[in-house]
Amino acid sequence: MDNNLLIYNTLTRSKELFRPVHEGHVGMYVCGPTVYGDAHLGHARPAITFDILFRYLRHLGYKVRYVRNITDVGHLEHDADEGEDKVAKKARLEQLEPMEVVQHYLNRYHRDMEALNVLPPSIEPHASGHIIEQIEYIKKIIEAGYAYESCGSVYFDVTKFNADHHYGKLSGRNIDDLLNTTRSLDGQSEKRNPLDFALWKKASPEHIMHWPSPWSEGFPGWHLECSTMGRKYLGDTFDIHGGGMDLMFPHHECEIAQSVAAQGHDAVRYWMHNNMITIAGKKMGKSYGNFITLEEFFNGSHPLLTQAYDPMVIRFFILQAHYRSTVDFSNEALQAAEKALQKMLDAYRRLQNLKPSEKSSVEVPDFMARCMEAMNDDLNTPVVIAHLFEAAKIINSAFDGNITLSAEDIDRLKETFRVVLVDLLGIRAGSEGGAADTSAYEGAVDLLMEIRANAKASKDWTTSDLIRDKLAALGFNVKDTKNGVEWSLPQ
Ligand code: ZN
Repeated sequence: MDNNLLIYNTLTRSKELFRPVHEGHVGMYVCGPTVYGDAHLGHARPAITFDILFRYLRHLGYKVRYVRNITDVGHLEHDADEGEDKVAKKARLEQLEPMEVVQHYLNRYHRDMEALNVLPPSIEPHASGHIIEQIEYIKKIIEAGYAYESCGSVYFDVTKFNADHHYGKLSGRNIDDLLNTTRSLDGQSEKRNPLDFALWKKASPEHIMHWPSPWSEGFPGWHLECSTMGRKYLGDTFDIHGGGMDLMFPHHECEIAQSVAAQGHDAVRYWMHNNMITIAGKKMGKSYGNFITLEEFFNGSHPLLTQAYDPMVIRFFILQAHYRSTVDFSNEALQAAEKALQKMLDAYRRLQNLKPSEKSSVEVPDFMARCMEAMNDDLNTPVVIAHLFEAAKIINSAFDGNITLSAEDIDRLKETFRVVLVDLLGIRAGSEGGAADTSAYEGAVDLLMEIRANAKASKDWTTSDLIRDKLAALGFNVKDTKNGVEWSLPQ
């Protein structure tokens, strides 16, 4: 299967023509959430970015196995090797089983992703469900000579690895610079070198999540789960590994070191990273008071928000920027996105009701081809959206009676919007974001409009007024225009 998809490979720092390892199949791994709290805006961007890639690869005809992991053990508070386990801490504070904490936040994460119309991945493996595989993987790294045991824990030997391979090639760092910016060991450390990272940690007595291993009763290091589960479900070499730019170092750098050490070669062909989100120019963080959860965006309850935002507005806003650019959230920017999305959806709805003419009075460009060209250019969604707005202009001119469109052109436009806006960009057309398919609902309202038009034509004002008034009472906006009736959903 051939395609013209160029994707930016973070490892080579260049756009490369996408060619999968196995003809017709794509293996794709994206680092998922650590489930110890509600999903916030920072979770939305990678989820949406790789949802677009997932949708597009499937559109190109590939059979895609998309793995997105759940980190439920080993993600420590201060860094990868230190502090309390985030899930365990939550469990201790709330007097719950760690798995209760995991399930609770995982359910909520799924609910938020569903609201954002992010498709579920093919496999969603838990780190805690792959302890045996992780232990086996550590054994391979020790056998290869790139890890050592110290006081019941096992550390990756970064110096030794760097002597044979380049540690830092993904993030463009080198070990000397890294050493200069790392605090030196205090003499108490179990590590040989401050850059060494834990593959296995011996559990301290208060640590509630631990498993037996050849080295100690303990738990795996955070970086290990992705190397292990990626290999288990996608094979020794797979196509795409994605995640947020903040994961590039140390997380993904360590993943590369682990797989080169254990398997003798890189496991991943294309590394992809989405850029970060700021809020009103500031990094998101608990200390800035701008840590807004997705639920708070959806219901407008956070003090920094002047209103609630439909999940589709959040999605559309994120897609208006290229995934490798930063995105800055503010009420003004979101309100602009809300207006733009409304404009797009209005055009889409008008398109469904356009009456074809004998022939088109203007030339309608091949918008589908243009959108695909932009998608092929490293998923350039802002350009895709710009093309759709060009198409919307033509639809609006036809709706206003300034131009005519042939049935064939109308069908091509319908196909473009259905494929690009609905299937690829994943915008729920005409929905308030929550419900699944709203076409039945819209069809029912259109039917009421038709009955009302017939009633008016036969001067049955009682019926026509009844329909208008009842819909108005439900919050619908019904407008009579010279080209017929226009309606919009309750706000
Ligand atoms: Zn990961």
